[in-house]
Amino acid sequence: MFACSELYPLIKTGGLADVAYNLPRALVQLGHQVRIVLPAYRGLAEVTPPPQPLCRFEIIGYEVALLVSHVPDTTIPLYLIDCPELFNRPGDPYGDGSHPWPDNALRFGLFCRAVVDLVENHCYGDWLPDIVHCNDWQTGLVPLLLADGAANPATLFTIHNLGYQGLFSQQTLAELGLPEEVKGVPLWDFRALEFYGELSYIKGGIVFADAVNTVSPGYAQEVLTPEFGCGLDGLLRHCGARFTGIVNGIDTDYWSPAKDPDIDLNYSVESLADKQANKRGLLARFHLPDDENTLLLGMVSRLTEQKGIDLLLDALPALLDLPLKVVVLGSGEAQYEQRLLVLAAQHPDRIAFHSGYHEALAHRIIAGVDALLIPSRYEPCGLTQMYSQRYGTVPIAHAVGGLRDTIINACGRAVQGESGGASGGEPWDGVAGTGILFDDYSVAGLQGAVASANKLFQHAMLWSCLQLAGMKQDFSWAASAREYNRLYHRILR
Ligand code: ADP
Repeated sequence: MFACSELYPLIKTGGLADVAYNLPRALVQLGHQVRIVLPAYRGLAEVTPPPQPLCRFEIIGYEVALLVSHVPDTTIPLYLIDCPELFNRPGDPYGDGSHPWPDNALRFGLFCRAVVDLVENHCYGDWLPDIVHCNDWQTGLVPLLLADGAANPATLFTIHNLGYQGLFSQQTLAELGLPEEVKGVPLWDFRALEFYGELSYIKGGIVFADAVNTVSPGYAQEVLTPEFGCGLDGLLRHCGARFTGIVNGIDTDYWSPAKDPDIDLNYSVESLADKQANKRGLLARFHLPDDENTLLLGMVSRLTEQKGIDLLLDALPALLDLPLKVVVLGSGEAQYEQRLLVLAAQHPDRIAFHSGYHEALAHRIIAGVDALLIPSRYEPCGLTQMYSQRYGTVPIAHAVGGLRDTIINACGRAVQGESGGASGGEPWDGVAGTGILFDDYSVAGLQGAVASANKLFQHAMLWSCLQLAGMKQDFSWAASAREYNRLYHRILR
């Protein structure tokens, strides 16, 4: 049973939705039976086939219906926890678009309780999962509640982003009717849910799940340090071998330059030159001068500090000293949108910005730009660097977390070195890789990486080596699913 708060294509704010759609499908390929459970947000009642009510029950005074349908375009059963009072709202799963809902503790607390009721009461028939695979703080109370019953399924808790922890007030414990203690540990205790005077949902998963993982081995290492651990590094270190990292995959059918219906001209390793038509189309779409020989950079991202949009904004004036153009697609914090709008207005020939979430445009940008900027402060896994490599678009990324795990840095000293090469030869000596990584998280660091990209871009042969090496990487879900399969078996043993 895969419990989550987002599911592509029904409701998505980030990478979790993609994982929730793709990992279960890859697990089915390996022979697992998978079912997914999600809150019945507004609009979900219109999925096809129309969700059928299976049963009704009551949780802490709320009427809840269990609906069943299928994950679109699959045979995977989809359970929806229907409580209109809490979930039938406009906006995204967590807020009205600008602010989180004030009753999120109750909304996701009730969701967790409903998942546990499903599993314990089997009200959906005789299908009993071996494992409940929980994702992020919205499902954090599920492992806690299942830890109490000996006959319950095992639990895996996956952290997609440690920065989001689900912190609420102590009184939530009583509002949700949670037990005083679980496995002899009082819930209001630093060994359980208490976190510096607040109630932490993510701790319910980390403390009580049979195993915990995050979405790349690199990030799994980083969060053990105070710098990346968001206050939970000590607890994660304490998990020892119970905590691991498994890198996400991507949907290589959907993100395929050879058959993507959203891009101007399809292309592949055999016809890489056709990528250029997408660059021309993108420049025209954004009313930028049709200059194919200048480096075109892109960014497709949530506009939050985590994604390094502030670093890019600080670096942009200096970056414009190089002959390049930048296209940004993103939605998020108003201050960043505002700064992007101002910069785009100041440099209409160099910078373009599209505000909002636009799936088709994301595809067009990833196909059309030469290089994709991913200056994330931290990155649990990241997906866009894998999409871009598939599309022969060179990622320029901060060397952290999943970015470090999925990009082979082409720019060692050979390109960045002042003498132009480790061996004193041409600047591209020793180039082998799929992208450009920078360690130094500063304007100078990003600027250096973009300058290296620009240098490489001047050498068409080298640039195409980078592009082709990226396009040949295997980012399919099959490999990740095999690792989850191993982890599930380990948990059951
Ligand atoms: P996160 O989940 O932290 O936002 P990921 O890189 O894991 O970051 O996943 C982001 C996903 O959201 C990718 O599929 C990316 O293409 C998509 N995305 C982000 N912003 C936009 C946008 N404005 N329009 C379209 N797609 C977007």
